[in-house]
Amino acid sequence: MLGPVILAASRSDRMRRLISAAPVTKQVVDRFIPGETVDDIVPIIEELTGRGLELTMDVVGEDITTPEQAAAARDAYLTLVDRLKELRLGERVEMSVKLSMFGQALEGGHELALANVRPVVEAAAAIGTTVTLDAEDHTTLDSMFAIHEELRKDHPQTGCVIQAYLFRTEADARRLAGDGSRVRLVKGAYKEPAEVAYQQKHEIDKAYVRVLLTLMEGEGYPMIGSHDPRLISIAQELARKAGRKPDEYEFQMLYGIRGEEHLRLAAEGHRMRVYTAYGTDWYGYFMRRLAEKPANLRFFLRSVISR
Ligand code: FAD
Repeated sequence: MLGPVILAASRSDRMRRLISAAPVTKQVVDRFIPGETVDDIVPIIEELTGRGLELTMDVVGEDITTPEQAAAARDAYLTLVDRLKELRLGERVEMSVKLSMFGQALEGGHELALANVRPVVEAAAAIGTTVTLDAEDHTTLDSMFAIHEELRKDHPQTGCVIQAYLFRTEADARRLAGDGSRVRLVKGAYKEPAEVAYQQKHEIDKAYVRVLLTLMEGEGYPMIGSHDPRLISIAQELARKAGRKPDEYEFQMLYGIRGEEHLRLAAEGHRMRVYTAYGTDWYGYFMRRLAEKPANLRFFLRSVISR
């Protein structure tokens, strides 16, 4: 029951101000968002890649309100690419972007987001890596998929995310399972109405397996974005049945969640990519992590109260 309440709060400006100002917040936030600047994050990139992990980097931020903020988001990613170029890690470190941070919700937002994300995709390609478009709430997805298709004309390795909780996703997966596509499958992290999305965990999990089967049997490159041990072992089984080699799919998990499992899968020879977020506009990202696991909220509240 708590999850939907926290997700509603993740969109509230009042709650944003309240929680961002709580003195203890930073300690708790650091578990999921381990830095604010590129300088903070470079040692973390070096440490994780040194342990055999791959990364997808997210500069946190979403739902911006001016074109200037969208341009600043683009520039933050371009600064990151400059640093990645020095590290020479190629596709071991890719980037994830939220189009709402690139201006998608503003007037003329579809074109604006495309214009802002294109240089990031081009800069990534120039250093041998790529970009994945995150999936946000369901109202944004037609635009996201159209931008994805447009970017793939010049950069076919550009990835996108699909969410198992949405009814539309099985059809999206069939469309996206072709040769050369890179698709991350996740359960879905937004508060979605019953008209468009499964509401029960068991229904979402079943849909996840159906969609994963489509991706595994397809020609593309599936990216399994989940911490769920059951789904991870089902994914291994489906990959085996589909005759996929370990470099023909990958696992992805979030920084700060089940870290020992990241290392275990990598040690077993799997490609394991850690979604690592950094930046100052962490509120929406942080609240979704609290909503996924109420124990995180209890820990957060205890920290506030015990101060
Ligand atoms: P769950 O059943 O939620 O969790 C399984 C187990 O994992 C839990 O029992 C718990 O042990 C652990 N766990 C899960 N979440 C947490 C947490 N927050 N804190 C502590 N432990 C936890 N969603 C989108 O809507 N769009 C995206 O673009 C997107 N990108 C993602 C990228 C990656 C790499 C990953 C891993 C997730 C992404 N998500 C995205 C979030 C996703 O939709 C889920 O909300 C999230 O992954 C939780 O689902 P789960 O599959 O881990 O399963």
